[in-house]
Amino acid sequence: MKHVMRWVAPLLLALPLGIACSSTDPENDPAEPTDDESRLRNEIFEENASGKADNADCSGVVLPDQSGFNKRVAITFDDGPHLDNTPRVLDVLAAHHATATFFINGKGVRTAQHRDLLKRMHEAGHIIGNHSQNHANLKTVSAATLKAEIEGTHQILLDVGVKPAFFRFPYGSSSCATAETVRSYGYAVTGWHIDSADWCFAASRGGVGYCDPATFQHVPNSYRSDIAGFVLSQARAKGGGVLLFHDVHAYTVGVLDSILTKLENDGFRFVGLDDVDTFPRLNGKKPASSPFIGSACEDHDDCNFTAVNEAGFCQTYEGGGFCSISCNGTCPDKAGMAPTFCVSLDGNSGQCVAKSSAANGYCADLPGTTAKPMSRFIGTSSAPASTADVCVP
Ligand SMILES: [Zn+2]
Repeated sequence: MKHVMRWVAPLLLALPLGIACSSTDPENDPAEPTDDESRLRNEIFEENASGKADNADCSGVVLPDQSGFNKRVAITFDDGPHLDNTPRVLDVLAAHHATATFFINGKGVRTAQHRDLLKRMHEAGHIIGNHSQNHANLKTVSAATLKAEIEGTHQILLDVGVKPAFFRFPYGSSSCATAETVRSYGYAVTGWHIDSADWCFAASRGGVGYCDPATFQHVPNSYRSDIAGFVLSQARAKGGGVLLFHDVHAYTVGVLDSILTKLENDGFRFVGLDDVDTFPRLNGKKPASSPFIGSACEDHDDCNFTAVNEAGFCQTYEGGGFCSISCNGTCPDKAGMAPTFCVSLDGNSGQCVAKSSAANGYCADLPGTTAKPMSRFIGTSSAPASTADVCVP
């Protein structure tokens, strides 16, 4: 209420003078969370932390990538844009040479200034995602409302030149049906690993940086007045991951520089949500397992290995590719992988291919190949003549 009162006077003055509302209308920090919002946030935190969540791609908070972050952190902000606080967030990010992702609510994009702010974010290299139009609990709305909630913000982003790829459910609250609907628009559902709980630190006791247990129970007592410590402890436990803030709180702007500095001093680096190495599954890729002869590949980078002193390369063909090395009669095998065989695909030189075996689903793991009998490429070796069923295009 205090915030509202503060702005009544300037508005009363401004309106009779005919000053355009849209350019002088200041934005308030959001109201304190309702009991319902607190309850939802507590539930979602438990879902994320305890493994209670489903593993069927229905959760709005559990990410498909859960490890292997290699001390890389993707910073994300929800609920903006905010004309006062978001630009200050952008300044802090620029000082740290960090790009972030902003999940916006369409209802907050009310003026040309808001649209200009979105364009500035986009031009600075930040990712802008969809956080729904009105920030409702989408698990409980009708199918028609769900579509309107997605499409409203989707259109706003298209109008400012952004093709959004990431969606975050308000409160992380999703069901299998809502997640499926969101994906049908081409979005990746994006939860988080590290919850700053900045909304709680910002809300309790007038924003002095104390998170009240009655508002949010999941901050250990030692961190009740230490948001940076709370963030760092989670980042260390996870080895990195997706970090959640809200750029609508002046409190968050005030502590952001110190949190980012502490993370950097601890060896963390900042990446975008679209960093495929850090978040392969979120970006629709299989995580890189250590490649070997017969691993599926798209380019030579996917075959970054050496075997019997030969460098791996990606043999591409229409519809796919597999990793290979050149050979002269024989090829090395590796436990857990399909056995290999030296053949010539060009009639001149030898290269290793995978035999058709259970380990590669009898060639099903290598799209575009089928099992075909081929003769060994003997080359200058003394290997005996032989044939085998191998996976080749
Ligand atoms: Zn939100």
